Amino acid sequence: MPSIGKRIANLAGIILADYPLCNWCLGRQFPSIKGDSNEVKGRAIREEVKVKAKKGSCFICQDSMHSLKENSVKILEQLKDYEFDDFLIGAKLPKDFIEREDSLRAKFKLRGGEAIKSEITREIGKIIASKTGKRVNFHKPDMTILVNLVSGGIDLNPKPLFVYGRYLKMVRGFPQKRRKCRNCRGKGCSECEYTGFSKEQSVEQILAQNLIERFGAKGAKFTWVGGESSESLVLGNGRPFYAEIVKPKLRHTDESEMLEEKESGIILKKIKIIDEIPKRSPNFMVKVSAHIKFDEEIDEEKLYTLKEKLQNSEVKVIPLKKKPFMKKIYEFDVEMINKREAKATFKCDGGLNIKRLISGFYSNVGKDLLEITPNVSEVIGIKADCDAFDILNVEVLNE
Ligand SMILES: [Zn+2]
Ligand SMILES: [Zn+2]
Repeated sequence: MPSIGKRIANLAGIILADYPLCNWCLGRQFPSIKGDSNEVKGRAIREEVKVKAKKGSCFICQDSMHSLKENSVKILEQLKDYEFDDFLIGAKLPKDFIEREDSLRAKFKLRGGEAIKSEITREIGKIIASKTGKRVNFHKPDMTILVNLVSGGIDLNPKPLFVYGRYLKMVRGFPQKRRKCRNCRGKGCSECEYTGFSKEQSVEQILAQNLIERFGAKGAKFTWVGGESSESLVLGNGRPFYAEIVKPKLRHTDESEMLEEKESGIILKKIKIIDEIPKRSPNFMVKVSAHIKFDEEIDEEKLYTLKEKLQNSEVKVIPLKKKPFMKKIYEFDVEMINKREAKATFKCDGGLNIKRLISGFYSNVGKDLLEITPNVSEVIGIKADCDAFDILNVEVLNE
């Protein structure tokens, strides 16, 4: 038992005669006393108080401190589903708890006492740490637990996880990105099961579903390393992507367990947990096979000129509202299919708009109006269009 001086016993007596306090809230007002917890200190002080204490629920916390254990049990129950190495407790208190404690401290000149909120979070933290064997971490913990004493609820907020992966697309006919739900335009409604996204098949949809199941997560947000069109295939080593896993229950995954869903046409070829998504998209090169259609007849000579002009060259990309920039084309080969069709196979810097490299500025494919020069139409002198292209490989520098 901590020893209590006469001065403190007298002062505590004066306070308790008018203000009923629980042991926690009593002990907290006397930081000079040494003891394991404010509750232990409060009990010791109360034993030394000779005057009759006023009865009633605690003036400061309305006996909320009694529910610390109960709240901890609720938290432990919910935590069972989650993987985490460390955690942090946060608390939301009714404003008047703090106001009443402040007014009491001002009235009796009680100085240096801990804030009620720190005591609540610390005490719950101690219980959770001892029951789970996990430690409290103030800097980016795996799990943040918010105890809301206003609503009585508990919110678990696991830190997001980040993954890097690669996918192959073996079937044509669906886009890379999810479309917003047409019904609610992304707000979330019953039609889209409150995801805000259309349920139409897309690479994003299929990968998101795999990641959500894999990590028991609420969602997945993607950062793409380049893109392909609906009618493209993605072959070779696949296209890289990054994803933020929102509210994951699991923080580990079997990185050798791949998605081989033949039906969806998407194969997850690689998955790796990473520390964070890089701020800048990595430099990458793509190998492409593009089908070209010409408005007029072409001949081998024209295709030869095209190959000579574009291999190991640089093209200038001129977006409508942004600064022009250069992209490199490394290898470039083209084969005639018939007098109006050809197949080009080439390797170029990532992020080059393939359809526009072929058509030039004639068509309006892509989001922004954008011109690329030189381009296939321009070099051949005949209007050319790309109706489909496949990604044969994506090489990331410093992967
Ligand atoms: Zn209290
Ligand atoms: Zn919707």
